[in-house]
Amino acid sequence: MASVTIYVLILLAALLAPLSARSADAMQLPTLGDGSEMSSSVERRLGDRIAREIYRDPDYIDDPVLADYVQGIWQPLLAAARSRGDLSSELSERFAWELMLGRDRTVNAFALPGGYFGVHLGLLAVVGSRDELASVLGHELSHVTQRHISRVMAKQSQQTPWMIGAMILGALAASKSADAGSALIVGGQAVAAQNQLNFSRDMEREADRIGFGVMTQAGFEAQGFVSMFEKLQQASRLNDSGAYPYLRSHPLTTERIADMQGRQPLGAGNAPSAPLSPEHAIMTARARVLSNPGVDALRAIASEAPGTSLATAPLARQAGALYGAALASSRLRDFAGAAQYLQRLTGLLRGDAATARLSHWLEVEVALSAGEIRRAAVLLEQAPADAGLQRQRPELFLRAQLALQMGEMLAAKDASQALQVWLVAHPHDAQAWQLLSSVYAVQGQMLRSIRADAEAQVSRLDYAAALDRFRAAQELMRKNEAAGTGSTGQDHIESSIIDTRKRQVELLLKEQSLER
Ligand SMILES: [Zn+2]
Repeated sequence: MASVTIYVLILLAALLAPLSARSADAMQLPTLGDGSEMSSSVERRLGDRIAREIYRDPDYIDDPVLADYVQGIWQPLLAAARSRGDLSSELSERFAWELMLGRDRTVNAFALPGGYFGVHLGLLAVVGSRDELASVLGHELSHVTQRHISRVMAKQSQQTPWMIGAMILGALAASKSADAGSALIVGGQAVAAQNQLNFSRDMEREADRIGFGVMTQAGFEAQGFVSMFEKLQQASRLNDSGAYPYLRSHPLTTERIADMQGRQPLGAGNAPSAPLSPEHAIMTARARVLSNPGVDALRAIASEAPGTSLATAPLARQAGALYGAALASSRLRDFAGAAQYLQRLTGLLRGDAATARLSHWLEVEVALSAGEIRRAAVLLEQAPADAGLQRQRPELFLRAQLALQMGEMLAAKDASQALQVWLVAHPHDAQAWQLLSSVYAVQGQMLRSIRADAEAQVSRLDYAAALDRFRAAQELMRKNEAAGTGSTGQDHIESSIIDTRKRQVELLLKEQSLER
């Protein structure tokens, strides 16, 4: 969708150009210059500005289970791009290389400035394998490593980065599937403006070529690229561009298809697609349920599992249907139904460690939704005998949620220790900071709770909100001192950390405001 976004943004740019040129003049705003591409530092700051707004969007979703799965595909792609030399070490360090999931049901993935990428749950719900997903992500990744975005941006030399950011955000908002009317308009504009405004055909061809190299080097099956093309082709024959915005930005020209088929090893064109794996079927089901499908669709997903025909279906299909039915039932607050499907699912997956952990996490999740705290605690105690499991993000977060629902000191202390260890290795994990803030509050550690909340805001690039929290923490310290309760050694350390972090964030905020 980057290119849909770009179509719209450039159309808007044309409309707004006189206005922005005036304001740029009047306010002495920095412009992009007349270089052939936007500098990587300007592009990163532009990306940060867009990302900050996306983090605030209620449709942005950080689901630990889906995020884990997508990272398992994304990280190998990044590593392959680095080792092939497609991703320079300079760009590797300077850009974010972060995937953001959106609840949207439409099939879309897009690259944004600065190494941020959006992936709709609708895409996760239709890809048939990790390989297919890797082919789309590899293509989008290559649009950024090859500096396509920066070159298209640089054409907007009369625009300030700030204006471009505002327009990209407007286009993103307008293209949401929730509002079919505006989605159509975006499509219409995209078509009208396509010739001047798209990534060029050469850029698309290059993203296909480099993306293909990256995904195969990362160990994914080349066949995934072809079967994804076929899937898109089928959708375009059905003229389903409403559900497939990805098609609007990536029209399947015969040239692209021929190009891709030519890249396949001899004979691979006829090779069957990889069989559906249980793990992928489960992730697809989860994406469908979490993409805000509405009550009717949840009921439909829940009703896919019963039926005797399922018993003869391949294991992966059964696993996906049961997982989806259990999660959908839980969302509909039919916990008895959810328990039945879960029981069948765990029976089905017993002995397969990779997928057994997924049904284990779902069992805990459903128990927590049902308010069955004791049962959730027992389930976490009986976790499959895998020492690494407790260090995995979904498990860590479930344990923290359990501690919060229990409201119990000891559990909260365990959870905060585990989260702290996690955060040392993953200091930008906003959701982990947020959970840490809550489990500190359960322990009555208000100073630490406020500071963790501040760090969550920093991770979401919202420095103004973070500064508010740091100020609140300082205020609390003053009150504690006045009341004679603030003189412990621990508070002393905490207070110096808060002062230091506050000063650092003040600087960041200052830099951010200079960009306007
Ligand atoms: Zn593309």
